[in-house]
Amino acid sequence: MSAPATAPVPRPGILEIAAYVGGEAHAPGTGRVIRLASNEGALGPSPKAVEAYLAGAAEIHRYPDGGSTALREALAGLHGIDASQIVCGAGSDELIGLLVRSYAGPGDEVLYSRHGFLMYPISAKSVGATPVAAPERDLCTDVDAMLAAVTPRTRLVFLANPNNPTGSYLPAAEVERLHAGLPPDVLLVIDAAYAEYIEREDYDSGLGLVDRAPNVVVTRTFSKIYALGSVRLGWAYCPAAVADVLNRVRGPFNVSSAAQLAGLAALHDQDFVARSRAHNETWREWTRQELERLGLKVHPSVTNFLLVSFAGAAGHNDPAEAARRYLKARGILVRQMGAYGLPDCLRITIGTEAEMREVVAALSSFLKG
Ligand SMILES: *Cc1c(COP(=O)(O)O)cnc(C)c1O
Repeated sequence: MSAPATAPVPRPGILEIAAYVGGEAHAPGTGRVIRLASNEGALGPSPKAVEAYLAGAAEIHRYPDGGSTALREALAGLHGIDASQIVCGAGSDELIGLLVRSYAGPGDEVLYSRHGFLMYPISAKSVGATPVAAPERDLCTDVDAMLAAVTPRTRLVFLANPNNPTGSYLPAAEVERLHAGLPPDVLLVIDAAYAEYIEREDYDSGLGLVDRAPNVVVTRTFSKIYALGSVRLGWAYCPAAVADVLNRVRGPFNVSSAAQLAGLAALHDQDFVARSRAHNETWREWTRQELERLGLKVHPSVTNFLLVSFAGAAGHNDPAEAARRYLKARGILVRQMGAYGLPDCLRITIGTEAEMREVVAALSSFLKG
């Protein structure tokens, strides 16, 4: 028997977590800051969302509606889905964590693809489960490799579609093939945080699959195109039995009134969403072309960010890190990718026109350095 511990000890797995490090928000000494490190909305929030948020201020002594009723009904109307199967959360991160906690534990495996969103392995470790990363092909989820990695211990499979940080996506037919190859007791979680940015014939966020399959959940967020990252608001569309589970484990008041009010107003401002999507498309394509003209490799993206490879940029032994520091010294913050196993890359969020022109100009001078 081992000696008694002399201090409280967390459960197995917890101390293996490398805490999630968010994008930087400050560039001391530069006088201004351009934040392109966290995939926040380029245009700021909808003014209607801000107005609704402020209008709720006098009522903050009241507990929120624990069922997020008005918001769920509006989501159901917009997407043509069943409100009773929607569960809202304090960001989709909370829902990811609750799903893992509800369906996996010590000895279980949580499968994701090699460059999938970091919250999947973090959530798995936090419940003592084992995260398993399937290899990708060209920085895109490889359905065959995912299916080959399924074992009798697999409890959940996470698919970010489109994926962060690669910017790639799986066509609906491939998602169907992934689902068809999974045992019925494995939960497929499709994290569609960037769904509103992509308009492709062959893409689908998976809401219809939830209606057809008892083992598929889709998570969505208000943090990206709706630009409400600060209020923490996400939602999951689930089979009824999974919604029931989430409603048992979530906090009874997990979504604040401010989040519900802002989210509802943002949802009703679809013109703003359309403007954001069009802005993103224009400036993502412009930025991609300009960076390619500078000789950088830019991975194809359907999202509001670009994964840019600096491998081979002459004159630096760690060019991505050198570029990141160069930008930061000029008040421009982008995301380093070491934690994702992509140390040669930086992830650059699409911001305003002026911000995109600045980042391209700064990278041009860096490369001429
Ligand atoms: C940003 C992001 C989320 C989470 O967002 P919340 O702010 O917690 O709703 C989830 N998944 C992916 C892939 C993301 O990039």
